[in-house]
Amino acid sequence: MKIGVLALQGAFIEHEKMLAQCGAEAFEIRQLQDFQTSFDGLILPGGESTTMGKLLNELSLMEPIRESIKSGVPVMGTCAGMILLAEHIFNDDTVHLGTMGITVRRNAYGRQLGSFHTNAYMKGIGNVPMTFIRAPYIESLTTANAIATVDGHIVAAQEGKQLALAFHPELDSSLAIHEYFLKL
Ligand code: GLN
Repeated sequence: MKIGVLALQGAFIEHEKMLAQCGAEAFEIRQLQDFQTSFDGLILPGGESTTMGKLLNELSLMEPIRESIKSGVPVMGTCAGMILLAEHIFNDDTVHLGTMGITVRRNAYGRQLGSFHTNAYMKGIGNVPMTFIRAPYIESLTTANAIATVDGHIVAAQEGKQLALAFHPELDSSLAIHEYFLKL
């Protein structure tokens, strides 16, 4: 299994390490050329969504990534990666990939409370550790389904083979979420 990890900015190396532990091959997507190979899935890491969106456009990667997701390539977006997938960003006209029926609220917990660690149930997986860093949450859904909530806020959603997480599964030792994604 070969997974492309968007490696423009943010926590991509941690995802690559997780994939290796799951026995999957990871390759980094840094430019358009890297995208012209066959692969089984994509990971959009956490980081800073505005910067990533800008770089995706500048590198002409936005459109091919959007098209491959629309054609059914499985994708997992974590934190900023989730913001890239969202069809709407609360109080913001920006749309990056816009492939997933979720509205996300950036820095939803405020600057002070944006980073915390907890454990919560994720549908189809069970209890998992969740590390939030200046995290967004999902304000509402259209075509996607909620698969995890923390304190009444949706923190994970799935729509077909698209998985969006407000937290950073690559920063905890549990491989459960990466294994779930690889099964998709
Ligand atoms: N706050 C960041 C953003 O809006 C996301 C934070 C993260 O990925 N850890 O892009």
